[in-house]
Amino acid sequence: MIGPETTSRTALVTGASRGIGRATAVALAELGHQVAFCYSSDADGAAGTVAAVEAVGGKALAVCADVSDRASIESMFTEVEGAFGPVTILVNNAGITRDGLMMRMSDDNWSSVLDTNLTGAFQTIRRATPAMMKARWGRIVNVSSVGGQAGSAGQANYAAAKAGLLGLSRSVARELGSRHITCNVVAPGPIVTAMTEGMPDAWREKAEAAVPLGRFGTPDEVAAAIAFLCTDAAAYITGALLPVDGGLGMGH
Ligand code: NAP
Repeated sequence: MIGPETTSRTALVTGASRGIGRATAVALAELGHQVAFCYSSDADGAAGTVAAVEAVGGKALAVCADVSDRASIESMFTEVEGAFGPVTILVNNAGITRDGLMMRMSDDNWSSVLDTNLTGAFQTIRRATPAMMKARWGRIVNVSSVGGQAGSAGQANYAAAKAGLLGLSRSVARELGSRHITCNVVAPGPIVTAMTEGMPDAWREKAEAAVPLGRFGTPDEVAAAIAFLCTDAAAYITGALLPVDGGLGMGH
C-alpha cells in the first residue's frame, strides 16, 4: 500500500459490492479518502464493503444505483455530495457480461453491456467533472479489460465497450488536462472474482495457461494500480492504459 495522501478527498467507486470494486474502495480508504460506492442489487455485498472500509479505519457510503440509468446516476451524486461533499476521485468499475457469439447476439445483450460498461462511465464522468474543474484537481480511472485491446471471442459487446473506454478516457484526458484532472484506464486480465467464477472450467484453465505469470490476479492487485493512479504522485500520468494482467496482453 502507498502511504496516506496529505489531502483527504471524496472518492466514488461504481460497482463496489464485491470483487475489484470492493478492493478499490478499501485501497482508497487506506489512502485517507472517504469512499462512496454504488451497487445495483447486491445489498449484502455492499454491507460487506462498508465493513471492509471501516475495518481499515475508513468512512464508507453505499448507494443503490444503476449506472445504466441517467436519473439513478444523478440521485447517486446528490446523495454522495450531501454526505461527503464534491467527488474529486471517480473510479468507473461497474461492469457486466452478456456473452454469446456475435452472429447470435441479441440487441438487448449488446445494448445492456454498452449501456452499463461504456455509457455509464460517460454519464458519471460528465456528472463529476464540474466539481473537479472547480477544485482544479481530479482523478478518473476507468476499468477496462485485456479484451478491450485484444478482442474476445464470444464477447463482442464487452470488448467493444471496454475498447470504447480507452477512446473516452483519452478524450477526457485531453479536454481536462489543463485543470489538473487526469483520466486513465486500468485493464485487468483474468482476476479471481465472481465474474470469472461464473465462467466454465475449460475457459479458466485456458486463460491461466495463457498468462505469462501463470495465474489469475487478485482484486487487491488491480486495486493497488487504480489507487496509485488516484494519488498526487500520479499527477503526470494521464491518458495511460495500465495493464494488470500478468503479461497476458503484452504486444497489444
Ligand atoms: P463483479 O464481481 O461481477 O462485480 C461487479 C460489480 O458491479 C458489482 O458490485 C455489481 O453490483 C456492480 N454492478 C453491475 N452492474 C451495475 C449497474 N448497472 N449499476 C451499478 N453497479 C453495477 O466484477 P469484477 O470481476 O470485480 O469486475 C469489476 C470490473 O473489472 C468490471 O468492469 C469488469 O468488466 C472488469 N474486469 C474484470 C475482470 C475479471 O477477471 N474479473 C477482468 C477484466 C476486467 P450488483 O451485483 O449489485 O449490481
